[in-house]
Amino acid sequence: MRKPIIAGNWKMFKTRDEALQFVYNVNMKVPSNKLVESVICAQSPLLRDLVKRQGDNLRIGAQTMHYLDSGAYTGEVSAPLLEDIGVEYVVLGHSERRAYYNETDESVNKKIHQAFKYGLNPILCVGESLEVREANETVEFVKAQVVNALQGLGNTQIKELVIAYEPIWAIGTGKTATSEMANDTIKAIRNIVAALYDNETAEAMRIQYGGSVKPANIKELLSMSDIDGALVGGASLDANSFLELVNAAVK
Ligand code: PGA
Repeated sequence: MRKPIIAGNWKMFKTRDEALQFVYNVNMKVPSNKLVESVICAQSPLLRDLVKRQGDNLRIGAQTMHYLDSGAYTGEVSAPLLEDIGVEYVVLGHSERRAYYNETDESVNKKIHQAFKYGLNPILCVGESLEVREANETVEFVKAQVVNALQGLGNTQIKELVIAYEPIWAIGTGKTATSEMANDTIKAIRNIVAALYDNETAEAMRIQYGGSVKPANIKELLSMSDIDGALVGGASLDANSFLELVNAAVK
């Protein structure tokens, strides 16, 4: 049995007051992390404050990070610092980072290694554009992203990795992939990992769906055989909506 993981990706939203108010509203109400992993991924300057107030069942993640320990990289965030302040997750290779900040499969691969080195749980994002989907090339496209991102990782790391399958055309557009479509691609990803490693490893690894997930559609998505959670942008910003999402994942 894979434990569901619901991660809110706040992107570039919320001031400090808004973020603290959110945590104040949710942290006594988040279900036990024995049943569901509930994570909020926020802008870097908020992370320390959020970690301090995360309570027993909420966990905090960063939205990106550099693959080196330190150096002359203005504006970047390092894994040693994230670990130092108690952050436990990091989103890597989000399609917005790939599109606007030159994140590539190669840098994502280095970042995953770096995350593991510092005990951070990476959430690797993959997913195709509408063009790729319409050309019927989704599986090949996602396969290349997965194979490249996983280079050099061992079985134990793969079992701990979370992959978020996020079709780019479904992010922030209100267009959700149908649950069958999402499940089919997620199954394909699991098969790719099984071929690279083995069945046991692929079956242990959790794969989320992301792209316009809301309280209204999460139950159906999570009822599918291979969808182990969700990476949620817009619908994670509101405390009640986030609580509905994490509660929907409690079996
Ligand atoms: P969305 O974003 O839920 O607002 O579509 C998902 C994401 O980008 O992770």
